[in-house]
Amino acid sequence: MEQGAIRALLLPILSAEGASDKQSGATAGGNPSSIHAFGRAAKRAVDEARDRIAAALGLEDPDAILFTGSATESINTALKGFYFKNVGRGPVRLITSAVEHEATLETARFLESLGARLEILPVNSQGELSLDSLDQALTRAAPGESVIVSLMAANNETGVVFPWEEASLLCARRGATFHLDGVQAFGKLAGFSLSGQSVPLASFSAHKIGGPKGVGVLVVRRGTKLVSLIHGGAQERKRRAGTVNAPGIAAFGAAAEALSMRDLAAVDRLRMGLEARVTERIAGSHVQGAGAKRLVNTSNFLFDGVRGESLVMGLDLEGFAVSSGSACNSGSIQPSHVLLAMGLDKLAAQSAVRVSIGPATTEEELTLFSQALERVVGRIRASVGRARPNS
Ligand code: PLP
Repeated sequence: MEQGAIRALLLPILSAEGASDKQSGATAGGNPSSIHAFGRAAKRAVDEARDRIAAALGLEDPDAILFTGSATESINTALKGFYFKNVGRGPVRLITSAVEHEATLETARFLESLGARLEILPVNSQGELSLDSLDQALTRAAPGESVIVSLMAANNETGVVFPWEEASLLCARRGATFHLDGVQAFGKLAGFSLSGQSVPLASFSAHKIGGPKGVGVLVVRRGTKLVSLIHGGAQERKRRAGTVNAPGIAAFGAAAEALSMRDLAAVDRLRMGLEARVTERIAGSHVQGAGAKRLVNTSNFLFDGVRGESLVMGLDLEGFAVSSGSACNSGSIQPSHVLLAMGLDKLAAQSAVRVSIGPATTEEELTLFSQALERVVGRIRASVGRARPNS
């Protein structure tokens, strides 16, 4: 249903008003910076997408939306843009958490190499962040330091939700700039909205809400000053040079508008049912962050004696796609930095799998999935048991 809605909303840019079939092909590739009819049609599509995404995020001002090529680029723009804007005035302090996406952690480490004072906040065994630890870190900032805090709204591996609204208020009170990695929360956390929130910077990604890959948004609220990362033309009100991906942006707008049709409570019920069934039927199974507030669609499972990679491959053969560690790192055998930060040992942190369900997932599919999971876990445990005497 959402796919249909997206196609319907894309039609205006895929066919020009009054254009012949031949011309409409040109319009799909129209450059929104050009003033001819094809360019104007593409610009209209981009502006409409900006309005739709702003509405879905609860933003009063669509111009706060800056289109990028990914949430990774948005995060880089927020953190590096803040650093380069402020470094001339004195020290810059960057506070983040140990379970952030690599886009944040690697950017933070890069800025540390340039001289930023980096502080990484721990999480507890449930993956939760304490506001006290943030408060203490903010208190440690010296007078005259420029401070930016970058936190995720929800974790991509465990689905654990951070107290981002309270954190943003704390930052506002202490004069620190707050950047929210909202990639996972948008469309998967009931009631998620930036309306009325003191969040000057926030990053989002189209492909996490059913849109295309390779399109991101950085929300830059009025009054927040950043240095641009990409110089060149005057696109995006001189904040990011380069021709924008008009068809991708239009599809992002359509996907954002379609979010209002999602029944998150139904997805939440399905996920809880799946977790109950799996932990009941498979001995030695655990859900990471089970005691924390989590996203409606994400479960992180660990099965005693079962390596995540074997599980991913076994389930793949059964026709199910799950991720081991961070999806962006799949294929890597590195233990998950998120699970290590939650206190799991290296082997356990290599062994967990993430199961994400979507708005189209059905009860029947989850029954088939949990049956396949039971079979695959059983097979892996049996083969490990057979291999052990010889090893
Ligand atoms: N932040 C979080 C929490 C994510 O889950 C991801 C991607 O999975 C990103 C940032 C990066 O998004 P993108 O793939 O658009 O660069």
